[in-house]
Amino acid sequence: MALIVQKYGGSSVADAESIKRVAKRIVDTRRAGHDVVVAVSAMGDTTDELLDLAHEVAPIPAPRELDMLLSSGERISMALLAMTIHSMGFEARSFTGSQAGMITDSHHGKARIVDVTPIRLREALDEGAIVIVAGFQGFNRDTRDITTLGRGGSDTTAVALAAALKADVCEIYSDVDGIYTADPRVIPLARKLDHVSSEEMLELAANGAKVLYIRAVEYARRHRVLIHARSTFSSSEGTYVLGEGMKNPRETEGAAMEEPIVAGVATDLSQAKITVAGVPDVPGKAAEIFKIVSKSGANVDMIVQNVSAASTGRTDISFTLSKADAPATLKALAVEQSEVGFENLLHDDQIGKLSVVGAGMRTHSGVSEILFDALSKGGINIEMISTSEIRISVVLRGADLAEAARTVHSAYGLDSEIEAVVHAGTGR
Ligand code: ADP
Ligand code: ASP
Ligand code: MG
Repeated sequence: MALIVQKYGGSSVADAESIKRVAKRIVDTRRAGHDVVVAVSAMGDTTDELLDLAHEVAPIPAPRELDMLLSSGERISMALLAMTIHSMGFEARSFTGSQAGMITDSHHGKARIVDVTPIRLREALDEGAIVIVAGFQGFNRDTRDITTLGRGGSDTTAVALAAALKADVCEIYSDVDGIYTADPRVIPLARKLDHVSSEEMLELAANGAKVLYIRAVEYARRHRVLIHARSTFSSSEGTYVLGEGMKNPRETEGAAMEEPIVAGVATDLSQAKITVAGVPDVPGKAAEIFKIVSKSGANVDMIVQNVSAASTGRTDISFTLSKADAPATLKALAVEQSEVGFENLLHDDQIGKLSVVGAGMRTHSGVSEILFDALSKGGINIEMISTSEIRISVVLRGADLAEAARTVHSAYGLDSEIEAVVHAGTGR
C-alpha cells in the first residue's frame, strides 16, 4: 500500500461530468488499496474569470481581498469533488489550505510555502478517508490572512503535501498525456517524454512551459519528491520528473538509455521588451537603470547593450520582463529620466521567446548552430540571444514564434510521427 498525492488542474474539473470522471479515478486508486490525498484547482477558467471580475470593480484590487476572492475558486471544486466521492460510497473530507496546514509567507498573490503541518490530513487518513485539499492557497501566521501561491500554484500545493506526508509519488493530472518536447498546442508533432531531469524541467517551466509550475519543480527537487505528470483523460503513463540520483520507476536494472542532447523547446509570449535609448555611455549608468527597474518590482530576464556611437557617446540598453510588469517599470524609469540622462523609452509587447533546453549541451558542441541555421533558413530575424549552461533562448517577433518553434523542433529531430492529443482546456 502506497500513499499517493494526486493533483487535478482546472481543465480536469471544468464541469460536473469532469468532476465525476476525476472522482472515479480517485476511488479506483483507493480501491487498489492506496491512501489518497488530492490537491484540486478551481473549475475550468474560474480563476481568470474571478480576476476579470475584480478588475471590473477596482483597477488595482487590494491584494488581501484579491486572495480572498481567488482562493474561493478552489473551495468550490474541493467540496464538489468530496460530495461526488461520498455519493460513490467512499469517505472523503475536503480541507482549505489553512485547514491543511499550508503555512506561507505574507506575500499576497505570490506567497511561498514556509511550513506544512498536515495534522488534520493525517487524522483523516488514519480514519480511512480520502483527503481533498484546496490547491493554490495558504495561510500566514503573522497576518492571519489567506494567501495564494501564484498562478499555477496548485502544482506546488500537491508537491508540498507529498513532501510533508512522505508520499510515494506526486501525480500531476492535466489535459495532456505528460510532458512533451514542446507545447502540443503550438507544435502538434511534439513527442511525449518518458522522463525529464528536474534541471531541464526547471528551464522549460521558467521559459514558458506551463505544464508544471516552476516553484513546484523547485520544491520537488529540494525535497526529493517524485513527480509523475499524466493525463486525467487517458490511462496512459505520463512523464517522470527526476531529481539528481532519483531512479526512474519504469527503468529496468542496467537498461539506462543514452539521454538525448535536447530535451525540448519552450515558447513564451508573456514577455515585453523595454529599450532605454540614448543612455550616456559612462560607468554606473546600467547600475542606476537596473536599480530603478528592480525597485519597480520587475524581474528582468534578458539584457542587451548596444555598442555606443562614437559621435554621440550614447548607447541603448534593452531588456525583457513580464508584460504585466512593464507599465510600472516604464513609469518608474520615466520619473528618473533627467536624473539618469537617457533620451527616451521604447516599449515593445509584440515579442516572443523561443528556448531550446537540454542537459546534453554541456558536453556537445554545435547545438546553437542548429538553432541559428534553422531560423535563418526560415527567414526569421533574431532580436536578442541569451544562454545558460543547458539552454539557448532567442527573442523574435511574437507573430513568428509558433512557426519558428515548429522549424526548430524539426531541425533538432524531435518531431513525432503522430500528432499529440490535447484532451481539454482552453489554453488560457
Ligand atoms: P492545469 O490546468 O491542469 O494545471 P495547465 O494548463 O496549467 O494545466 O498545463 C497544461 C498545458 O500546458 C497543456 O494543455 C499545454 O498546452 C501546456 N504545455 C506547455 N508546454 C508543454 C509541454 N512541454 N508539454 C506538455 N504540455 C505543455
Ligand atoms: N486556480 C489557480 C490558477 O488558475 C491555480 C492552479 O490552477 O494551479 O492559477
Ligand atoms: Mg497548471
